[in-house]
Amino acid sequence: MKKWHLIIDVEKCVDCNNCFMSCKDEHVDNDWPGYTRPQPRHGHRWINIMRAERGQYPLVDVSYRPTPCMHCEDAPCIHASKGSITKRADGIVMIDPVKAKGQQELINACPYQAIWWNQEQDVPQKCTLCAHLLDQGWKQPRCVQACPTSALRAVCADDTEMSRIYTAEKLEVLKPEANTQPSVFYKNLYRFNKCFIGGSIAANQKGIVDCIEGAKVTLLQGKDKLTETLTDNFGDFKFDQLAENSGKYVIQVQMPGFPAAEVTLELTSSKNIGTIYLS
Ligand code: SF4
Ligand code: SF4
Repeated sequence: MKKWHLIIDVEKCVDCNNCFMSCKDEHVDNDWPGYTRPQPRHGHRWINIMRAERGQYPLVDVSYRPTPCMHCEDAPCIHASKGSITKRADGIVMIDPVKAKGQQELINACPYQAIWWNQEQDVPQKCTLCAHLLDQGWKQPRCVQACPTSALRAVCADDTEMSRIYTAEKLEVLKPEANTQPSVFYKNLYRFNKCFIGGSIAANQKGIVDCIEGAKVTLLQGKDKLTETLTDNFGDFKFDQLAENSGKYVIQVQMPGFPAAEVTLELTSSKNIGTIYLS
């Protein structure tokens, strides 16, 4: 049986909010009987764009993570709902707008904070994966269609095919510890859950401080060499996808014609170690 999934590439999201606005366009003031009541104009974020900032000036990166309902296989909201939330055979988790009337407590059942309370309609609501459109033959929901960078992809696939894509594209899920088996997968999630060590290499040559391009920078932990890189034409280097709070690291710098340099640091979160001067 094929089921719907979303694949979201964090590196491609530029925070344009087209997904968010297209969700509003599709659901605000529109009643989709059997699917969901109209979404309020303000307050609800059925696809919620979260932001993560890493590093320190001037070595900073900012990333965005669109976050809809995960359409979980083992959904805590379903367990809490007494029958008002169900999972369809095609994988979409739906809140029945009639049966769920008055059940405000359901907004606390989702570990992803994906359920919103509609005061005017007296119902909990969330992303429906635009099921009313998919049931009419649409190949993708509105937010996926609206994304200008293809950061969002809708994939209708069976478990075997999805497992292949998961491995081939190195996908991850949010909050794996919640064991909800999401149907929404993320690419490049390291921008949210991993950190980097970065810096610059420079030297004082005849009274002029200049950046050093092509210096070999090696990252070690204890005596183990983890990886190495060359500085770019600004003298910058970056080691990414390191675990937070992962202990002590050593950075060694070598450049022909200059003395070697070494820096030791304790990594808690993304760190710009600044400029290492070779002279
Ligand atoms: Fe339910 Fe939350 Fe999972 Fe969506 S993400 S299916 S609302 S538990
Ligand atoms: Fe909104 Fe549809 Fe996208 Fe869900 S799939 S966030 S309901 S536009």
